[in-house]
Amino acid sequence: MPTETAFRVLGADPSGALERALSLSPDETIGLVESAALRGRGGAGFPLGEKMRATRTAAELAGGAAYLVANAYDADPASPLSQTLLRRSPELVVDGILIAARAVGARQAYLYLRPEAADARSAAERAIASRDGRTDVSIEIALGPGGFMGGEESALLAVLENKRAMARQRPPWPAEQGRAMRPTLVSCAETLAALPLIVRDGPDSFGGREGSRGTKLVSVTGAVVEPGVYEVSLGTTLGEIVQTAGGVTHALKAIHVGGPTCGILSSTRTGVRYDYEDLRAAGTYMGSGQVRAIPEGTCIVAEAARLFEYLSKETCAICVPCRVGTKRVGGILESVSSGLGRDDDLAWLGQLADHLSDFSLCGFGITSASIVRTTLAEFPDDYRTHIVDRRCPEGTCTPVRARRYETMAQP
Ligand code: SF4
Repeated sequence: MPTETAFRVLGADPSGALERALSLSPDETIGLVESAALRGRGGAGFPLGEKMRATRTAAELAGGAAYLVANAYDADPASPLSQTLLRRSPELVVDGILIAARAVGARQAYLYLRPEAADARSAAERAIASRDGRTDVSIEIALGPGGFMGGEESALLAVLENKRAMARQRPPWPAEQGRAMRPTLVSCAETLAALPLIVRDGPDSFGGREGSRGTKLVSVTGAVVEPGVYEVSLGTTLGEIVQTAGGVTHALKAIHVGGPTCGILSSTRTGVRYDYEDLRAAGTYMGSGQVRAIPEGTCIVAEAARLFEYLSKETCAICVPCRVGTKRVGGILESVSSGLGRDDDLAWLGQLADHLSDFSLCGFGITSASIVRTTLAEFPDDYRTHIVDRRCPEGTCTPVRARRYETMAQP
């Protein structure tokens, strides 16, 4: 079991935090964040203190303006973590933005939302107004374009400059060259929401175990009694997370962890801890924060094909491994689910997964390989029944292709 902590962001009252932060120097604030070992909640898990220090150093060296972008975009519509947080604790998020901006030397901050997040936007506007004049930081609400890639770190910087939501090569990282090529701290709203509590109550209040401290918002979906957004301590097992949502409504076949770009684990893996290292060791990631219970009777080949159909439409298409790779993986999976698969399709899927993870430009393509790897490793019978017996193991797949998907490059 994880070390339980009283630390919670959902519904938290940040009273006194901003006053405390205003009494600290930027270096002291960053030092508290470093002591708490707060890692980014947006999926990558990068230490926020390190990012803040890099941004502040770059801003001092470059002189002139620095920026902060709080990413509350919720790229995965089934995982509205930031919107839930903004509706329930808008002052916490706004205070986190103000504290972080002041620490890195940014006078202009952006709260970046999905266009349809009307309730979250209203709550944020009220909270911003309530902090008017308390600091010299100005917060502007910016709306993304919709679509999955609008939430990617470098793509959202392009959006803020009225360009298409396309990722860009890094380095340089946003801490050095972000908005308008100026040092920019980009962090997700959930990460920033931890700052007021860490600054006011001290880094020890953050709790948790080494490497994965504090809590995480998760969106529990699928075959559970009470789907919704919950806050769990990092290190909680996947089985406990499902129980938090009231348990399953049907016998469990699989747990899809991390949203549309992440891997699917078998129901035997309910003991896997929900933290950065253990999820990665299991073959998946925190991703969008979604934990989806998949019931018995679901064909995993069809699930993987459906995910890659989605990804091939949502890719920003700027790099070849992802633009072409997601289409090829999706096409092969459709062939297999249509009863047209061959043994060598499995090796070919493995090779394409390697290309996706090794050569894609951003996390979208890199993490999507985990869908291929986890489903091949954890559900081999679903693939083999389709390929060898020419039938769907669950009797649910209907052919979507009349001919195999093949390319010149396929062996
Ligand atoms: S990995 Fe995909 S989404 Fe990311 S930059 Fe490449 S094409 Fe765009």
